[in-house]
Amino acid sequence: SQWVYKFGGGSAEGDTTMKNLLGGKGANLAEMASLGLPVPPGFTLTTGVCTYYYDHGEVYPPEMNDQLEQGLAYIETLTGKVFGATDNPLLVSVRSGARASMPGMMDTVLNLGLNDETVEGLAKLSGDRRFALDSYRRFITMYSDVVMGMHHHTFEDILEDAKLDAGYLHDTQLTSADWEGVIAKYKAAVRDTLGRDFPQDPREQLQGAIDAVFGSWMNERAVVYRNLNDIPAAWGTAVNVQAMVFGNMGETSATGVAFTRDPSTGENRYYGEFLINAQGEDVVAGIRTPQTLTKEARLNMGEDAPSMEEALPDVYTQLAAVFAQLEAHYRDMQDIEFTVERGKLWMLQTRTGKRTARAALKIAVDMANDGSITTEEALMRIEPLALDQLLHPTLDPDAARDIVATGLPASPGAAIGEVVFTSDEAEALSKAGHKVILVRVETSPEDIHGMHAAEAIVTARGGMTSHAAVVARGMGRPCVSGAGQIRIDYEAGEFTCMGRTIKRGDTVTVDGATGQVFAGEVSMIQPELSGDFALVMGWADAARTLKVRANAETPLDVETAKGFGAEGIGLCRTEHMFFEADRLAHFREMILANSEDSRRDALAKILPTQRDDFAAIFRIMEDRPCTIRLLDPPLHEFLPHTEADIETVAASIGVPARELMARARELAETNPMLGHRGCRLGISYPEIYEMQARAILEAQAIVAKETGTNPIAEIMIPLVSSEKELEILKALIDAVAADIGVSDYTVGTMIELPRAALRAGRIADHAAFFSFGTNDLTQTTFGLSRDDAGKFLPDYVRAGIMDKDPFVTLDQDGVGDLILIAAERGRATQSDLKLGICGEHGGDPASIDFCQRAGLNYVSCSPYRVPIARLAAAQAAI
Ligand code: ADP
Ligand code: MG
Ligand code: MG
Repeated sequence: SQWVYKFGGGSAEGDTTMKNLLGGKGANLAEMASLGLPVPPGFTLTTGVCTYYYDHGEVYPPEMNDQLEQGLAYIETLTGKVFGATDNPLLVSVRSGARASMPGMMDTVLNLGLNDETVEGLAKLSGDRRFALDSYRRFITMYSDVVMGMHHHTFEDILEDAKLDAGYLHDTQLTSADWEGVIAKYKAAVRDTLGRDFPQDPREQLQGAIDAVFGSWMNERAVVYRNLNDIPAAWGTAVNVQAMVFGNMGETSATGVAFTRDPSTGENRYYGEFLINAQGEDVVAGIRTPQTLTKEARLNMGEDAPSMEEALPDVYTQLAAVFAQLEAHYRDMQDIEFTVERGKLWMLQTRTGKRTARAALKIAVDMANDGSITTEEALMRIEPLALDQLLHPTLDPDAARDIVATGLPASPGAAIGEVVFTSDEAEALSKAGHKVILVRVETSPEDIHGMHAAEAIVTARGGMTSHAAVVARGMGRPCVSGAGQIRIDYEAGEFTCMGRTIKRGDTVTVDGATGQVFAGEVSMIQPELSGDFALVMGWADAARTLKVRANAETPLDVETAKGFGAEGIGLCRTEHMFFEADRLAHFREMILANSEDSRRDALAKILPTQRDDFAAIFRIMEDRPCTIRLLDPPLHEFLPHTEADIETVAASIGVPARELMARARELAETNPMLGHRGCRLGISYPEIYEMQARAILEAQAIVAKETGTNPIAEIMIPLVSSEKELEILKALIDAVAADIGVSDYTVGTMIELPRAALRAGRIADHAAFFSFGTNDLTQTTFGLSRDDAGKFLPDYVRAGIMDKDPFVTLDQDGVGDLILIAAERGRATQSDLKLGICGEHGGDPASIDFCQRAGLNYVSCSPYRVPIARLAAAQAAI
């Protein structure tokens, strides 16, 4: 088979579609060569060679060597030079290049083919002995480091000493004689360290470099990088062998990197840097300060050194033409590496440039507007999850900062506020107009109001899926969790961290995107949601067929969701409404009541506030549908847990502490997740669901009358496993509705238990809609508790049993099958059954793609995910 693909001289055996075989670099070098761009000729050893090499105990395919020789001969013909010839030497670079770019992870060797004799040939050929020696010393340094395993410090130290001795500041001051001395010392260092001479045979050098590049595929950094970025080891890397061109041939030579547009803002202007009389990595190595490409950029940055536009105008013109040609060809922003040899431009690399979310948006919009791409293509170019960066304020990258603590980046966004340590204080201060940051050891459901009131949350304990993290993400609050070095002293009202003390009321800045907490105020940049953002969202809305709703219950969240374009509420969790202080007391009274009558009395006190809650939601959402879920969690969650709390609560609601403790004990469950919760509460205590249904339907009637809109309540029964449950509870709701005289509502159910999915055909007899509660459905399908899974899921991912956390990305095989079964059986009973999803998966692009294929009507996600879901739904439909 073919292991070697040649390119150069206006044609190539490969092209850009062959990235899997040739790696990104090789495929694009081939493509550029075919386009007639000036690419030094070369050839690519395929990723297949790499796979073969590792599958066969590190030996190469037998046919490879002949093909490699033919490749070399091809370069020799095109360049008119000969590899290893002393009078007219061909030098090559040996460059790694995998399918996915792995910046800086693998190795490249330049100037290969030089030895004590060819260096003289190069000197004669170029008429510049100093240049030849400069190339040789670079080669010895790189080869010894990459191939022979020596430390590059050894060579840097020798060079530094030589400069010190001669009193030079810059490498450019070394003369030919100086370089000769340095090279002699380099070779001696190799001999002393390794006990053998630096290899002089170019073919041995070439083989060594190829071995090293394939070997670097398995080096530790590369392995770690692959694991972090989900790149399979089986992909392998390709190796590119390419004729050298020289940026270090004096003042009309240079090397540089460029983006065809600004990768951080997306503005349509060249962005890049170059260095005169330099080679390869000198630009990124930071040895000298690079110069700008354009005069405009130079002026903006207040630099003195001339831009390329000014210093090498002819080359600049060639480069600008190449930029235009590459963008027109690839129809996307390109990231380019180039070298100029004595005034002639050579292209060494191009690839689609990485960019910030802001730039992605702007580039997609600009290119769609000028007709380079369609709006569909523009939509496909924007990573939905990256939009998150645009929805929250971010820290000004230029601002000074004073870090006090570091934890996990649990929820993105940045916020400034005064430190508080309790949720009540957070709420009180925020009502008084202060901005506060809630700092807790960890949070619990009782902190919801404080988290809401806070600008951001910091916890000392807990991971990325801790209560604080999950709730904060849902609310769109920035959160740093698990800041382990923080010691909180609630009594004293302060925390200490790394020897510093921050007191209640001190101002801090939290960056949820990096997990950092700073002392004082760091200035911020507000999100820009009009302009390009609004335009792209409009395109997305036109392209998608899935509706997007939000999971929200507080007026603020509902308002936010509507602002982000939610077309309804997909999940209003009524229990969150009970956690506010005054209601919690009545609710606890209800729980403690020992007869139905006294329960009804307590519920009657909650009814008006519940009604107000729902009315507020209907007012905001106008005639958009609102799915409201009746009480779901076990009653025990609402009771105080610690002895001290029990005493306080008992006193405040006027019952003996003993009684409260006894009731709490009575309600405690071994496995509350599978216990007395959801519709099971409605079956045991119908008066609770009755009160909630009344509050919802009365609110709907009130708002309809008051505003003339037509709000539609979709009352949702949680945790149904049997059609009987739904039948009974629907009858109960219908009776309430008849009593009030409301008919414009529907009753449906969550499908969150495997049995419900299987019984969907019969459940659909009583349901107007199904909403897949995929958090619970995932837990119950796997028999896996989300709160405990964190401990061993990483092992499962590592062992290859799962490739993703099923609580983040829907398990399409298992949980997805249940969804498909339920959808099919439900719709067989009732063809217009409305289907949606309201688990955290509703905001995950891969899961949204599944929902599209499964034929769901809508997805519902947290408010800040709504724009992400709108774009992901569009991508799923395209
Ligand atoms: P990386 O993947 O780390 O960018 P490359 O293989 O692209 O490594 O090489 C890095 C740099 O080395 C290139 O940007 C270019 O400046 C220089 N280089 C590579 N091959 C050649 C060559 N044939 N002639 C001149 N310079 C080269
Ligand atoms: Mg490169
Ligand atoms: Mg649930």
